[in-house]
Amino acid sequence: MSWRVDVALQTPAYSSVANLLSYTAEQDLPAGTLVRVPLGRRELLGVVWRSEEEGPHEGSTFDLKPIGAALDALPTLSDAWRDLVAFTSRYYQRSLGEIAVAALPPQLRDLSALQLARRLKRSEAAKPAPVTEARLPRVGFEAEPSPPTAEQSDALRRIEQESGPFLLFGSTGSGKTEVYLRSVAAALARDPAAQALVMVPEINLTPQLEARFKSRFEPLYGDASVVSMHSGMTNPQRLASWLSAHLGTARIVLGTRMAVFASMPRLALIVVDEEHDPSYKQQEGARYSARDLAVWRGQREGAKVVLGSATPSLESWHRSRPATEAEKTTGRRYIRLAMPTRVGAARLPAVKLVDMNLQPPKTVLSGALLDAIGQRIGRGEQSMVFLNRRGYAPVLACGDCGWKSECPHCSAYRVFHKIDRTLRCHHCGFAERVPRACPSCGNLDIAPVGRGTERLEEHLAELFASIRRPDGGAVRIARIDADSTRKQGALASQLAAVHAGEVDVLVGTQMIAKGHDFRRITLVAAINPDGALFASDFRAPERLFSLLMQSAGRAGRDAAYLAAQSTTAEMWIQTHHPQHPLFEALRRHDYPAFAERELADRAAAGMPPFSFQALLRADAKSQETAQQFLNEAAERAAGLPAAERVSRYPAVPLPIQRVADVERAQLLVESASRAALQQLLAEWQEILQDLRRSPAGKGVIRWLIDVDPHSV
Ligand code: ADP
Ligand code: ZN
Ligand code: ZN
Repeated sequence: MSWRVDVALQTPAYSSVANLLSYTAEQDLPAGTLVRVPLGRRELLGVVWRSEEEGPHEGSTFDLKPIGAALDALPTLSDAWRDLVAFTSRYYQRSLGEIAVAALPPQLRDLSALQLARRLKRSEAAKPAPVTEARLPRVGFEAEPSPPTAEQSDALRRIEQESGPFLLFGSTGSGKTEVYLRSVAAALARDPAAQALVMVPEINLTPQLEARFKSRFEPLYGDASVVSMHSGMTNPQRLASWLSAHLGTARIVLGTRMAVFASMPRLALIVVDEEHDPSYKQQEGARYSARDLAVWRGQREGAKVVLGSATPSLESWHRSRPATEAEKTTGRRYIRLAMPTRVGAARLPAVKLVDMNLQPPKTVLSGALLDAIGQRIGRGEQSMVFLNRRGYAPVLACGDCGWKSECPHCSAYRVFHKIDRTLRCHHCGFAERVPRACPSCGNLDIAPVGRGTERLEEHLAELFASIRRPDGGAVRIARIDADSTRKQGALASQLAAVHAGEVDVLVGTQMIAKGHDFRRITLVAAINPDGALFASDFRAPERLFSLLMQSAGRAGRDAAYLAAQSTTAEMWIQTHHPQHPLFEALRRHDYPAFAERELADRAAAGMPPFSFQALLRADAKSQETAQQFLNEAAERAAGLPAAERVSRYPAVPLPIQRVADVERAQLLVESASRAALQQLLAEWQEILQDLRRSPAGKGVIRWLIDVDPHSV
């Protein structure tokens, strides 16, 4: 007897959305079995999607190839997991095989059935012993967690009693992490096989969180009970984590966006920390939102979902608004749980706005801010100065002839990095040594324009050269950004130095704004945040507000320390628009006011969350080719059934229109109905595939669809 199996594979040659390839097998292979199958000269990893018995006389398997091997020592991937993959593929317009294979650990692609069976034997042996009395936490093993605050208790009770999804809206330092820990503890205690998935935006930035979960749960459930999943791990590490999640050995998976696809057969709870963070949105390949998929997955698997943030995405905020009478019966909404108070009497920092219009022209750091930082140095406190631009200066320019350090391959300037004396393009990576003289006129006097973190660090060192610390020592200034942390382990050691109090003034990009629980920082300053106020991207204010709230959240986290120092925490903002409502809301730490105003603007303009968007993007050798392709695609879409409910805008160049000698253009489609937009995108696929192969597709390097794009 022979079986026909339809397999999901990742293969560029079959990149249309529904791409199952058929093979034959000697035995019945249930859906979800991993297989290795021949394709051309290669053997690829695939997932059995369907399997059907072939009648003896049908003969239709005649020209099908047999599969190579079934990795059937491994339990099959569940229906729920395959549904998640199928949904992702449909919703984000990518092939099933691409999503399925990308959701598996890379090393699985290279293992033979035999090697995998051996691996499994070893994991079997490494299974933690069941929990016995002796394994329960001994007194003193971990400091007994403090009893929850009233706000934490309320949130926990509702998470326990209601089904969610929940939006935990808690100030920075209100103890959200403690709520996650306790919800996880409750879910695991309820069912001896239950698993929890905890997602964070950037796990490399949050070793503290990992440590907290391990110290809380390893004593209870064993050393293998908490595993991580993120791209900073080696392939063998990723395989090991994946296997233990899939086999149920791991009770808690801690990971970045990719972890949303972890195979977890007994998933009971999903936590998405800092749910507003842009890094939950994948920016290449399948452009999925791990936050949105987490909500979908929770619903499919009956797992509770807790989204947490001090500055929720406007989408989540809107979905958690109090229901009107009419809405009470319709639509799924989130349950909003508020925790406005910081734990332990720590107050949120006072926000100081410096009106830069009143400063002498070209002022980088106002006198008042310098004084405030200087005083803190004198008292042995730490300050954090925040500038979202790395490098020494964004441009190098010649005053004589007007030459600027443009990148020859991109429509962008190359950034001057003084440390290694290079001009580096942050878009394509093209780097050269800084020229001695202007390449265009020979003028020796070429100068940096504007400033990045490197120059700010240098500037601060000069300004504070004469100020002494309480111990009489010189001021210690450090910088943390993508450049300073390039080496393996560099970030961890730099953070450790800040925590150990070995740094007085920390300069950095948004890397230092997120999540770190710095205890001794009493002043945070944003030097030049104005750019985002008037950016063309309608989400820029939302991102700025959350970034500034996050940064403010780094200051004054330790009430006891503030009291002992008899000091208060401050957040300084230098701006040319001190009256702007965004800063007004920030001054009062009033996210709801900010959100209300922003949502009113969005509603008036018919923008998300009041509409749904997708971008069709094309890359080509010339801008004209890219735009023509997009406009032609839009024209052909006009005849589709869903077209009348979906607006299509003309093609435009991307904000940085040329990168690495490729011209980039995009076209926005938008609808008040998510279903209509989805229908149009599905119908559009074939047209786009055809168009790509037609003369209009000549010169087009690639096209892609970005559903719910982050920047438009
Ligand atoms: P968030 O994630 O909301 O910024 P954290 O969970 O990191 O806040 O909590 C801030 C600080 O308060 C941490 O140092 C944490 O240990 C402490 N904390 C949290 N909950 C409690 C509690 N119930 N009692 C005492 N301290 C707490
Ligand atoms: Zn010149
Ligand atoms: Zn470039």
